[in-house]
Amino acid sequence: MSAPTQYVYAFADGDREMAGLLGGKGAGLAEMTRLGLPVPPGFTVTTEACKVYLATGEEPPEMGVEAAHALAELERAMGRTLGQPGDPLLVSVRSGARFSMPGMMETILDIGLGDDSVAGLAKASGQERFAWDSYRRLLQMFGRTVMGVDGDLFEEAIAAHKAARSVSADHDLDADELALLVEEFKALIRRETGEDFPQDPVEQLQRAIRAVFESWNGERARVYRHREHISEDLGTAVNIQAMVFGNLGDDSGTGVAFTRDPATGARGVYGDYLPDAQGEDVVAGVRDAVPLAELEKLDPRSYRQLLGHLGTLEEHYRDLCDVEFTIERGRLWILQTRVGKRTAEAAFRIAHDLCEEQAITADEALARVDGAELTRLMFPRFDLRPTDVPLAHGVPASPGAAVGVVVFDSATAVRRAAAGEQTVLVRRETTPDDLPGMIAAQAVLTSRGGKTSHAAVVARGMGKVCVCGAESLTVDPVARRLTTADGVQVHEGDTVSVDGTAGTVHLGALPLTASDVGRALESGTGTGALIEAVLGALDHADAVRRLDVRANADTPADAVRARALGARGIGLCRTEHMFLGERRSLVEAMILARDDAAREKALSALLPLQRDDFTGILEAMDGLPVTIRLLDPPLHEFLPDRTELAVRIASSSHPDPHDRRLLGAVERMHEENPMLGLRGVRLGIAVPGLVAMQVRAVAEAVVRRLADGGDPRAEIMIPLVGTVEELRLARAETERVLAEVAAETGRTLDLPIGTMIELPRAALTAGRIAGAADFFSFGTNDLTQTTWGLSRDDAEASFFPLYLEKGIFPVSPFESLDQEGVGRLVEMAVEAGRAVNPGLETGVCGEHGGDPESIHFFHRAGLDYVSCSPFRIPAARLEAGRATLTAVQNSDSR
Ligand code: ADP
Ligand code: MG
Ligand code: MG
Repeated sequence: MSAPTQYVYAFADGDREMAGLLGGKGAGLAEMTRLGLPVPPGFTVTTEACKVYLATGEEPPEMGVEAAHALAELERAMGRTLGQPGDPLLVSVRSGARFSMPGMMETILDIGLGDDSVAGLAKASGQERFAWDSYRRLLQMFGRTVMGVDGDLFEEAIAAHKAARSVSADHDLDADELALLVEEFKALIRRETGEDFPQDPVEQLQRAIRAVFESWNGERARVYRHREHISEDLGTAVNIQAMVFGNLGDDSGTGVAFTRDPATGARGVYGDYLPDAQGEDVVAGVRDAVPLAELEKLDPRSYRQLLGHLGTLEEHYRDLCDVEFTIERGRLWILQTRVGKRTAEAAFRIAHDLCEEQAITADEALARVDGAELTRLMFPRFDLRPTDVPLAHGVPASPGAAVGVVVFDSATAVRRAAAGEQTVLVRRETTPDDLPGMIAAQAVLTSRGGKTSHAAVVARGMGKVCVCGAESLTVDPVARRLTTADGVQVHEGDTVSVDGTAGTVHLGALPLTASDVGRALESGTGTGALIEAVLGALDHADAVRRLDVRANADTPADAVRARALGARGIGLCRTEHMFLGERRSLVEAMILARDDAAREKALSALLPLQRDDFTGILEAMDGLPVTIRLLDPPLHEFLPDRTELAVRIASSSHPDPHDRRLLGAVERMHEENPMLGLRGVRLGIAVPGLVAMQVRAVAEAVVRRLADGGDPRAEIMIPLVGTVEELRLARAETERVLAEVAAETGRTLDLPIGTMIELPRAALTAGRIAGAADFFSFGTNDLTQTTWGLSRDDAEASFFPLYLEKGIFPVSPFESLDQEGVGRLVEMAVEAGRAVNPGLETGVCGEHGGDPESIHFFHRAGLDYVSCSPFRIPAARLEAGRATLTAVQNSDSR
């Protein structure tokens, strides 16, 4: 029999390794307690207890016993009992899951207070107002969270009292007024629930713990988990902790501090401080905090202590830490720490700096940044002219450039985004209820709150553009407009541009320009801490990665760009665009050809054009492999639309005979299901001369490059092979033409000839196919379509949203490789192919080649390279490097 499960741990008995059981917050509190930091004592109820409760509707019986025991210990340590009338011990009951979900679940403060003990608290603290305010807060939080009373009702009551007294801030309500409010709140709770607010402190505690358990399944927690890919069945831990009070006067206060700037990554502590306030006031952004540096003047001793603790924590965690602290009458308490969320910019700079400071290794630094962040840094920014005067300035809380129409509530943001509009969510301040709108919008703009307000923290975590605390703006969500200091009015539906890097908002859509990082990556020049950090991470990724990164590029210009961004060759050069534009008439002529001579003529007109295309690309990629795919799409894609043509003929009194012939061809070639029709290698076999023309164009381009002293490395790729017989035929034809050109020019032309693996049958018979192939390139777009038996465009337009919503798959298999199904085919094919042909080169050229998670899979599957769009190459290099770090699986900074 295994040891009985322990459901409750005192802070002193846990540590940081126990985040799964104690939640991130609980593990942090335990670790800080062990480090000797001043943490108010308490204990943690585990996520296991939560899971039992959520599954059965009841706490495990042992939990109650253990919690009672832990409470008794706490009371002994504090020398007071919970709710003790003369001098009550009060506690907070705080949620805290494995991964930080800021503000998404519930926390209840001041548990233990009641009609008897409120006077005791007043006496013990010497502050009557404080005691009544604490009781008022408890009724409000408990009433809403535990007893389910609509939170607005409390707010309305407070507003009414403020109006009656003609004061504007909660702060200005005195003890008598608050005592009245307390009576009103109790009556309100009774009226709304038919039940009295429980006076028994232990009952309060038990019910608060349950409510925190249940908040795991609250709407906003679920939305957040879905978006952050956090598993549904982790559950939350509950931390019960002795209260400390930041609202006891000017020698008290509360704040949030970071060991470095979470927005830019710059060295130096950073944060907000709110004198004479409770913790939740800072995060909610309800009152404006002062920069942390002010604390140095207000309370130098606590400030110095805080800096010391921040140093200890960063050294200990070897990463940016964020910390909640409270000062009670000149005494500093640390209430929370975690590895802090940060912007993409800060992620790169902090990793780089910590590595330079020798706090972490280069591998660890690489593990702490990712391709999605790098891509974000490459996003364009606004191209500002000096005449572009912003509507307002605020706090640059989360960087980037966003353009969208103004909306004033979460639901509208969701609705308009669903209709395909880009939106900017404008609020006075955001609350967790705004989460769906924040996800839907391009940017978030608030008129209140600082860098640690809800809007800022959540937007940063999502990589969403955010400007907060734009105080000169008057936001009127009812009239659906915002007004600037100069009286300019912006209405719902008006377009604005939000610059999260500069902290400004502009009327209209500003033009965009390349980001400094994007420019630096492309040109290899640029200076500054961020660029240095990005280039450093990429250098290390390049040094450790096994996967090569190539580009999907069809033109010399793309090839040049891809090479500048670090591509080591082209993994997919499509030839179909070489059949478009002005060349269409030549393609038409080829299709309409009545006999071999006419077809030959059309093909030989195409030949020199293709040869020039290939020459340019081979030149741009000189010395690196260029995998050229023979024509893949069905030929009717190059012909006019059937209906248009029919209409043109019908509406003309003298229809063009050419049009008639064309329509005949279009009708002849019409396919019900072109994706599965005459395309790929089937086309090469069915249309005489096509493969020969394309191969000759490649071969002659190679010869020309050789003559010019170049180092062309062309490879010929046959698409959509289902059986080795197809490949054998296409290969024979290719080799024949290569030999022909070699004989004509006196050059040796042994170009690698390979195939795409993009049909399940090809993957299943890969062993046989490998006998006729020098390389495999997995076309994972088609392979996904054919494995799932669906057409991407049709599916995405119809049932995909439903599938995603129902969780049938967590992300689209076209975005991130379906590892279980399609990935399995890839693994099988690599293995079977290599068994037959040990020199077989393998790569992937579908969109998945640029997707971080898929890249990690391809690394594990042992492929030689991934190939992706040029702009995704830096991110792919980074991820290919990260894929080699086993530590990556364990590092999780959420
Ligand atoms: P969240 O996860 O939403 O940040 P927390 O559990 O951290 O919720 O609590 C909300 C606020 O209440 C925080 O500002 C925190 O510092 C404050 N708080 C929590 N427990 C205590 C306590 N024991 N004494 C004083 N303030 C507390
Ligand atoms: Mg917190
Ligand atoms: Mg394909």
